[in-house]
Amino acid sequence: MRHSTKKLDLTGQRYGNLTVIASAENIGSKTAWLCRCDCGKEAVVKTYYLRNGHVTSCGCIGTASGLQSLTYVDGTCVEMLRAKTVRCNNTSGVPGVDWRRSKGTWRASICFKGKRYYLGSYRCFDDAVKARKRAEENLHDRFLTEFTAKLLPDK
Ligand SMILES: [Zn+2]
Repeated sequence: MRHSTKKLDLTGQRYGNLTVIASAENIGSKTAWLCRCDCGKEAVVKTYYLRNGHVTSCGCIGTASGLQSLTYVDGTCVEMLRAKTVRCNNTSGVPGVDWRRSKGTWRASICFKGKRYYLGSYRCFDDAVKARKRAEENLHDRFLTEFTAKLLPDK
């Protein structure tokens, strides 16, 4: 006899700030996992939410900065920028770096305010990752600085 629902073993996998530590009771009909967040808290998260990147922390991301929930500004999710988990479809496992099979190069890009910016194509995967990291620091950090400045009370 086998269980009717096959459950993937995600133990040890990392999703954003969460590390899966054990199988958990289903939530309704959905499979779920006990995860430990980088902040030290534990949370039970549905498999579906982990795998599609919907949940990447116990909920602590955002609260530290005084923001209660995901905040969208001009179509850019502030918490996702902070968490450095930008959900663009890609083929490399690194956000914003994808493999261009037809050209044989790695293309770096960044999503910002609902637009995708291309950062060039690179023969070397590491160079594409570096280009992406640079752009993250320049673009996202500048955006966060601007956003944080807006939160300050008017004089
Ligand atoms: Zn946390």
